Amino acid sequence: MERIDGHTILIGLMAHPIRHSMSPTMHNNAFAKLGLNFAYLAFEIDCDRLAAGVEAIRTLDMRGANISMPNKQKILPLLDQLSPAAKLAGAVNTVVNDHGVLTGYTTDGTGFMKALEDEGLDIRGKKMVLTGAGGAGTPIAIQAALDGVAEIAIFNNQDSHWEQAKKNVAIINEQTNGHASLHRLEDQADFKQELATADIYCDATGVGMKPLEDKTLVEDPSWFHQDMIVFDTVYAPRTTKLMKVAKAANVKHVLNGLGMMLEQGAEAFKLWTGKEMPVEYIRQLLFADEEER
Ligand code: NAD
Repeated sequence: MERIDGHTILIGLMAHPIRHSMSPTMHNNAFAKLGLNFAYLAFEIDCDRLAAGVEAIRTLDMRGANISMPNKQKILPLLDQLSPAAKLAGAVNTVVNDHGVLTGYTTDGTGFMKALEDEGLDIRGKKMVLTGAGGAGTPIAIQAALDGVAEIAIFNNQDSHWEQAKKNVAIINEQTNGHASLHRLEDQADFKQELATADIYCDATGVGMKPLEDKTLVEDPSWFHQDMIVFDTVYAPRTTKLMKVAKAANVKHVLNGLGMMLEQGAEAFKLWTGKEMPVEYIRQLLFADEEER
């Protein structure tokens, strides 16, 4: 607290619920480590108070904010401009305030790609099977296509996110160099067949997280092959049921969502401060004791 003074620059997190978030701990430790005079605070703000929250960014001359559920889409008309990826994904998780001009970014997709890169994995030119088309699945699909993933097979149930899945496929095919196809998750034979030729399977549905921690969309290890990557966006628990199935199939690269969570934060950190977040320091500080949780 000694470092808070009259010059401290404020960053906010606007979401509801938000008290469980690890972002304040992550960013404040990174600011302290680098000796940056910033402070990051969580504000419980839902859609009803979002306009007032965004106006406060200007009024208080905050440097910016993270935006999470349920505000990621609702914030779009309240901002002055959007990054190309945020425009395509139709969602914002980071706001930067440049002297009153508010720009919206989405760093979940770049966080996903960077998490792979940190493990020495390059999926450009390759084929991805992706389940989910929500707040995580959408930016992952868009960023992967923007970064050069050649083929993306998107599977979703015909639930409330089906239309978004359709939209994601259309955007990728019309506005990126990638090719996407839309599949019904209910068609298990199709799902199995697409996985057989996938270089990476990413699950962005949250199945495997509470209250579905005993569930996975792929139960049979024979649907996977050793040379692929299996990526679960879930990071609590650290080893999900999906990851256990992938390990039983001797899949070489099995990752949880921790790297993505750290890297989406690191990109936002850079947008606000111009500095690289000390990602390894933060990983050790927050998660070293829990790797196998
Ligand atoms: P969301 O509600 O916006 O979207 C969920 C998606 O999963 C939808 O496409 C929905 O159709 C599908 N789905 C939901 N339940 C399903 C089920 N039982 N079977 C099949 N499909 C199902 O959620 P979100 O914000 O996209 O979050 C999804 C997951 O990603 C959560 O576990 C979240 O914690 C995680 N996440 C991780 C990071 C990270 O940095 N690692 C970032 C964002 C989200």
